[in-house]
Amino acid sequence: MILCNLKLRLNETYCFIGAVTPFSFDGMKLGVIKRMSSSFSRAVELLPPSLNWVNNDFYTGSGKGLDVINKATGGVVMTSASASDADVDTAVKSAHAAYQKFRDMPAAERGQLLLKAATLLEERTSDFAHLETLDTGKPYYESEMDVGTGVDALRFIGGIVQNYHGNHYDLGGNFAYTSREPLGVIGGIGPWNYPLQTACWKIAPALACGNSLVYKCSEYTPLSTVALAALLKEAGLPAGVFNIVAGDGSVGAALTSHPDVSKLSFTGSVPTGKRIMSKASDSLKKVTLELGGKSPLIIFDDVDMKNAVSTAMLANFFSQGAVCSNGTRVFVHRSILQEFTAQLVERTKKLKIGNPMEDDVKVGATICKMQYDKILNYLDIAKKEGAEVLCGGGPVVPDSPELEGGLYIAPTVLGSCTDDMTVVKEEVFGPVLSILVFDSEEEVIRRANDTPFGLAAAVCTQNLSRAYRVISKLEAGSCNINTFNAYPAVIPFGGYKNSGIGRELGEECLNYYSQTKSVYVETGDPWCPFE
Ligand code: NAD
Repeated sequence: MILCNLKLRLNETYCFIGAVTPFSFDGMKLGVIKRMSSSFSRAVELLPPSLNWVNNDFYTGSGKGLDVINKATGGVVMTSASASDADVDTAVKSAHAAYQKFRDMPAAERGQLLLKAATLLEERTSDFAHLETLDTGKPYYESEMDVGTGVDALRFIGGIVQNYHGNHYDLGGNFAYTSREPLGVIGGIGPWNYPLQTACWKIAPALACGNSLVYKCSEYTPLSTVALAALLKEAGLPAGVFNIVAGDGSVGAALTSHPDVSKLSFTGSVPTGKRIMSKASDSLKKVTLELGGKSPLIIFDDVDMKNAVSTAMLANFFSQGAVCSNGTRVFVHRSILQEFTAQLVERTKKLKIGNPMEDDVKVGATICKMQYDKILNYLDIAKKEGAEVLCGGGPVVPDSPELEGGLYIAPTVLGSCTDDMTVVKEEVFGPVLSILVFDSEEEVIRRANDTPFGLAAAVCTQNLSRAYRVISKLEAGSCNINTFNAYPAVIPFGGYKNSGIGRELGEECLNYYSQTKSVYVETGDPWCPFE
């Protein structure tokens, strides 16, 4: 879910000039001063006064304290109060009141608003990327790409919403039509691996269709979404249409069970998704679920070897391996196993691990101790179950005192893997790639589909008919041929099986944020037998 934005502005350098109003994103202007490479100071300057946002302003929560941690260093950079149940109620009421007017704003105007937001976000790529890297620990260049994918979603959906409409039906004198109407207040809940991107993927269609939103970011990564709220205000979004409640799962649970929330749009793990869906059934709220995966990448024997190795790396090592769609089960044809493995291991060993603000770093810090322990535990189990560590395989301590409090894990390639190993069956959500060997097309399709997940899949081959044939048989919603994790905003993204319900992006996503009204129009006297 990362390579959607292909216009990478990696060589551009941004910063602000002029006075920057502390704690406000309003009125900031872009300049031409170079980014302070490897420095967290710019991100710290941008920290907001609160992590909650209600009625177009920062809002002081009355819940427990929430620490924001610089993942690279382990240092606490700010503490803010979470939202209490009463704060969630205030935010939903604000969204509900705003919805009554916002739903009547013409679609063209809502589209313009999203286009303006896209332009502002693009201009401020550097500042958003600084916040995102501080919060997630991922390399700065990746954060820039994530901002780009957020821009793409706002721009694509802002551009198409005017043409999203119902139908007219000629009924021989009489007629009927359908229109698409908003759902009401949407409750959005996001994960920590792509905070800004996920928020944009939900905000854009929700607002385009005339809904209002209350959004809960992951407790680990609240910063960029709060900055986005201020940017939406600047783009002209009316007060109350977009609100944020900060905090952990209990805040998400309060949002999930609020009676005035019409729909829940959730991105996160399968167990949380199931809980949300179950809770939503109490009041028959609609749900969109974007959940986890354990996706296959199939490498046939006719590939361009360099490209196939690149694809395996694209499928595994962005965002410290924490990518829902990652192709962590890499099936390699037996005849090329040796050469493929040698090249993959050689290139993986070269990936620089360390300060994510540095330009040449490709692997940053792990999100939290719990996730770090979980990944290391998976590696221990993998070794015990017979996997061979070909490179990586454990923690790394970067050579910098500043990073001592951060948690770093080396990108890992596991050989001698089998389908029944825990690391092959379960989502690790870390930089761990498993190589599995296969002999025939039929066999690999069966093994690739032997999973409860169905988010993504990819095939590498130069044989076009084989590529189409195999892809058509893979049980996955988001597929690539000869690359991985490329999901541009024009195509829908989402999973089969346990990986989710509904789609984000593409025109199709608008169906999940609106409902159909059907209207029959009688142009003469109504037919009536009751004289
Ligand atoms: P998570 O399920 O632990 O948490 C996701 C969000 O749900 C967080 O904001 C969390 O606070 C909230 N939450 C937790 N308990 C809740 C409850 N009972 N009610 C309501 N909200 C609750 O997931 P995570 O660890 O933040 O993210 C990693 C998971 O997300 C992985 O499984 C990954 O595959 C998945 N993911 C999926 C996609 C996709 O598009 N399919 C994208 C990114 C991440």
